[in-house]
Amino acid sequence: MRLPKPIVIGNWKMNGRRADAIARIEALLVELRRAPGRGTLGVCPPATLLTVVDQLLGVGEMLLGGQDCSSEPQGAHTGDLSADMLKDAGCQAVIVGHSERRQGHGESDAVVRAKAEAAFAAGLMPILCIGETEAQWTAGQTLDILDRQLDGSLPAGAAADTLIVAYEPVWAIGTGRTPSRDDILRTHAHLRRRVGDLALLYGGSVKGGNAREILAVPEVDGALVGGASLDAKEFWAIYTAGQGAG
Ligand code: PEP
Repeated sequence: MRLPKPIVIGNWKMNGRRADAIARIEALLVELRRAPGRGTLGVCPPATLLTVVDQLLGVGEMLLGGQDCSSEPQGAHTGDLSADMLKDAGCQAVIVGHSERRQGHGESDAVVRAKAEAAFAAGLMPILCIGETEAQWTAGQTLDILDRQLDGSLPAGAAADTLIVAYEPVWAIGTGRTPSRDDILRTHAHLRRRVGDLALLYGGSVKGGNAREILAVPEVDGALVGGASLDAKEFWAIYTAGQGAG
């Protein structure tokens, strides 16, 4: 199913205990049930909190995603989680290729593609992250790097109802810095020519204060939000900013 836009997805990363998750989701549900809006709100909690969050959500109220999955379906892979396990825990989506996995865990484009294919096989929607480093940005290599990452990690057969692409400049993640509106416009216009009608999210230091401008950029279908998604009020402000921006 194609997700209604704007698509605003929170990546909680390695943060939170059960009580944090319950408080955050309950606060979001109060807002959603009062004014659901026209888009898609989603969260990607740590694996330990997926079931807790799933149990709080009514059917279709929010998108639930994992933060990573194995490329393998099962077996002797200590510490890993298969896409099917995430599906069984209530997920509809999973982030693959986040820069913190590419850099911190040495994941190549080929590995990321295999993970996206594993997600497809389990019936999950991969949220495929791509993005250039600061050095690549400064050297003017952004579009080449994105092309290379898409060539290497976008699985064959990806369609608008099966996969989301998230453009996340590595230098903008968690730094409070963002590309200019014109830079986001140029990059997303390029990506649009590459990926057709796949949903295209921007990620990197999206906050309540800059969400309206970013989400109003043509070809930006939503946002992948890290730090600001840990604060329900701030995260909700991003979602509502997107309501008026499209
Ligand atoms: C992210 O890690 O996906 C991200 C966008 O983080 P932040 O919003 O904190 O920059």
